[in-house]
Amino acid sequence: MAHDEPVGLYLHVPFCRDRCTYCSFVTTRDDSLQAATVARLAKQVRSWGAALEHPKLDTLYLGGGTPSLMSVEELDVLTNSVREAFDLSSLTEATLEANPGTVDLTWLQAARQLGWDRISLGVQTLDDGLLRRLGRIHDGAVALESLELARKAGFLRRSGDLMVGIPGQDLSRVLDDARRMVDTGLEHMSIYLLDLDKNCPLKADVDAGRLALPSEDEVATVFEALQVALPRMGLEPYEISNYANPGAESKHNSRYWERRPYLGIGPSAASHLGDFRWTEEGNIPAWADARAGVEIQELDAAESLAEIPLLGLRLHRGVDWNALRNRAEKQNLLPLIDSWEAKLAPFERGGLVIREGGNVRLSERGMLLSNGILSTFV
Ligand code: SF4
Repeated sequence: MAHDEPVGLYLHVPFCRDRCTYCSFVTTRDDSLQAATVARLAKQVRSWGAALEHPKLDTLYLGGGTPSLMSVEELDVLTNSVREAFDLSSLTEATLEANPGTVDLTWLQAARQLGWDRISLGVQTLDDGLLRRLGRIHDGAVALESLELARKAGFLRRSGDLMVGIPGQDLSRVLDDARRMVDTGLEHMSIYLLDLDKNCPLKADVDAGRLALPSEDEVATVFEALQVALPRMGLEPYEISNYANPGAESKHNSRYWERRPYLGIGPSAASHLGDFRWTEEGNIPAWADARAGVEIQELDAAESLAEIPLLGLRLHRGVDWNALRNRAEKQNLLPLIDSWEAKLAPFERGGLVIREGGNVRLSERGMLLSNGILSTFV
C-alpha cells in the first residue's frame, strides 16, 4: 500500500513525572511501562514504514505525556526507527514536546543532534501559585529557564503553551506572562483554555465550591485581550488558538486543519489517511503489549466534505468556498452547501463570518464564538 503524498507522523509518549490536577490526556506516572512502550513505538514505526512502502514524511511530532522523560538512548532508538522506516528527504519540521523541570542542557543538545529542530514547552503560566494549583512540577522561573536552555541547545524554533481560564488567574497576569514568554524570543505560542476532565482533582474542587472557574465573559475578555496584545508582540494569529512570527506556524499542526494525511502511533494516537480515521487503544499496558486492535472508520462523501470547513475555518485564512462548492457539485452534494450557507447567513450578518470573493473566514469575534459557528458542520 504505497502512499504518494507525504504524510505527517505523530508519536505519543504517555509518561509524566506527576499528574497535573486538570489532566485528561492518556498518560501515566508508572515508568515501569516506559521501556516496553518505547520499544513498541519503534516497532510500530517500522511496521508502518514497511506497510506504506517507505513513505515520504514531511512533518514529525513527538507528543505526550512528557517525551522529555525519555532517556537519550530511548530517544535515539525511536528517532532511528523513523529514519529507517520513512523517507525523510522532504522533512520540513521535527517537533518534540517537553515539560519544564524535565530537561537539561545535555538532553536538549542530544535531541538537537538527533535532528529534532523545534520544541514545544508546556509553560501554562508563570505564576507559582497557579502552577501549584495546576499540579505542575515546575515553577515560573524553571519554565523561563527551560526556554532559555532550549535556545542554548540550538532550538531556534521554540513554542510555549499559555493557559487561560485557571481559577484565580486575572487578565493582567496572563498578559504579563505572555510578554515574559515572548521576551525569551520564542516564535510561537499556543493558547489553551483550561478544560476540566470529569474525574480530575481540580474539577472536584470546583464542584465542591472550593475554587471558582472564571465566567465565560471573563474568559472571552482574556482571549480578546490576547488577540490585541500578541500581534503587538510580533506573534500573529493563524489559527483560533495559535500565534506565530510570520513563517513560524507549526507545519505539523497545520496539517490537521488542512486535512493532510497523518499517522498517529502510540496509546490514544489518532490517524487520518485518505477517508480513513482511527484512534489507537488508550489503555497504556494493553497498547504496549499489543493486546488491542483499532476500529477503522471510513468517512462517506458528505462527512468528508464537512470536515473541510469544520477544520479549515479554524485557520485565519479561512476556506476557499468556491473550491468547496465545485467539489460538492461533482459529488452531487450542493444541497448540503446550500444548507450550510443558510445556517451561516445570520453569523455573516452579525459580522462573525466574512465572505470575501470566493473565500469564507471567521472574523476576530467569530474566532471567540467559533464553537457555535462550527457546529453548522457537525
Ligand atoms: S504534563 Fe501534560 S500530559 Fe502530563 S500530566 Fe500534566 S497535563 Fe497531563
